[in-house]
Amino acid sequence: MEVSQSSSQAAPNAVKKRLSPSILARLIICPAYIPAPFDNESRIRLQGLHAMTILRVISRHIKNGFQLKSLERRGKGFRIDLEFQRPDGWIRVSEVKSARELTEVHRIQAALYSENRSNEEVVVSNGTTDIALSREYIEEIRRQAEATRRFLMDCPNEAVASFRPNSCVCHTCANTSCPFHRSRILES
Ligand code: SF4
Repeated sequence: MEVSQSSSQAAPNAVKKRLSPSILARLIICPAYIPAPFDNESRIRLQGLHAMTILRVISRHIKNGFQLKSLERRGKGFRIDLEFQRPDGWIRVSEVKSARELTEVHRIQAALYSENRSNEEVVVSNGTTDIALSREYIEEIRRQAEATRRFLMDCPNEAVASFRPNSCVCHTCANTSCPFHRSRILES
């Protein structure tokens, strides 16, 4: 889970740093995305919801014969929420979301966490379900991530005006120059 992101950076500036999977997933969907700030109250509420969802995901897996191997396994510059051993010996890593519905941005984010290990499956989970990601999907997202990074670095002005509205990401976007930004829509 990642809830702390700088809100004032435009995407082209953010890409000069290492982009977190959370931000990169949103930039893959819309290269003009700028993360909106989190106030403290929202952050605490979200962390509470996330913790409760983690417990539900662990409990569901244990009931199904999985063994919990680690909480918050470290990857390259990020942490994946849960690591289990499946009954057949494979490893399952789970990126946990407190959202009621798992959407495209959640799947993309989980794919970016994959370390492409041969005996490992990646799932994105919420309180009720786990969606497994295929290797082909993960490969495609890696390809899109690389293309997005290149676009943001090589064509920053074009990127920040490449508006691709999507209900998964627009509600947390702070790019007020975008005609699809919620403040503009409310104005019209
Ligand atoms: S509000 Fe505009 S810039 Fe932000 S994600 Fe949506 S389309 Fe992209």
